[in-house]
Formats: sequence, C-alpha cells, structure tokens
Amino acid sequence: MNYATIKWTDIANGEGVRISLFVSGCTHHCKNCFNQVAWDFHYGEIFDERIQEKIIKELGKSYIAGLTLLGGEPLEPQNQAALYPFIEKVRNLYPNKTIWCYTGYTFNEKQGILHEKSKNTQHTKPLLALFDVLVDGPFVEELKDIRLKFRGSSNQRIIDIQKTLDKGELFLYLE
Ligand code: SF4
Repeated sequence: MNYATIKWTDIANGEGVRISLFVSGCTHHCKNCFNQVAWDFHYGEIFDERIQEKIIKELGKSYIAGLTLLGGEPLEPQNQAALYPFIEKVRNLYPNKTIWCYTGYTFNEKQGILHEKSKNTQHTKPLLALFDVLVDGPFVEELKDIRLKFRGSSNQRIIDIQKTLDKGELFLYLE
C-alpha cells in the first residue's frame, strides 16, 4: 500500500489532536473529491516499516488523541490487507487512544460488513472491530453542508462502530 500524506497534528478529522493517515487508492471518484491525487494506488510513498514505526512513536505523545484513517479509501480490499496488521498493533499498544476511519463505502449494520459485497475480504470484519468510529458513505456534492462536523455531506454517518457491532443495530457516535 502507498500513502498520500500524513498530518501529524490534525484537528479536522475526528476528536482531539490526531495523526491522520491519508492512504492512496480510491475507486469511488466522487464528484468534486477533496483529494483526487489519492485516487491512484501508486501515488505517494510506500507504507513501509519505517513510517509505521514513526506513526507508532508519535502516537505515544500525550496530546495525541488517536489515529484517523482516510484517503483515498482505507477500505479498498488491498488497503484493508495492508492496514489490518498495523492497526491491530496500534490497538494493542495504545488501548486508550481512539481510531477513526473514513470510508466511501456504506456500512451494513445488520451484517457488520460493507454493503458493497465485492469489497468485503477476510480482513473487513476484524479491521472494523479495531475502530472506535467509522464515518461511512461517499461524499455527495448535492448534500454538501459546511456546518457538518467531521464530515462533508449529510448522507455520511458518524458511527459508534464498537456498539453497533456489539448490538447488531446502528448507533451513531455523533448526530
Ligand atoms: S471516497 Fe473520498 S477520496 Fe474517494 S473519491 Fe470520494 S471523497 Fe475522494
């Protein structure tokens, strides 16, 4: 997997001061996407051990609330495979830091996986289970609302993924 950029002190993509990892590769191609360069799976740098170790070290800083995944599309099948072992490591090392993920796919709360069947892999459910918050759905230009917190358009849901997976019904983290 490649990544497009990393913001080391981001306050726009989740609660608190966060590290935001923008992965490369996205097949949604939403109209007026904010990050079109990251559609290309080969854009940016390789997400190798060196950068993974740097993120892990920086997450240890007391003022960092957690890690946010966005892109690009973190839940493209090949990105799921690359992210799963890394996120599992982050979760084990930092149980008290939060992990948010933005996806253009729609979460199916009844099945606990993505609504788009061809995008589910062996990693989908275990990876989702490592997140605290999942912001789902594509960016829809017609539903854009700049007053919305932590999302671009009103179709996107800020989901409490732990509670939702546990109960099998949708619980929003924020309205
Ligand atoms: S899902 Fe995100 S990165 Fe992909 S096209 Fe839509 S807005 Fe852009």
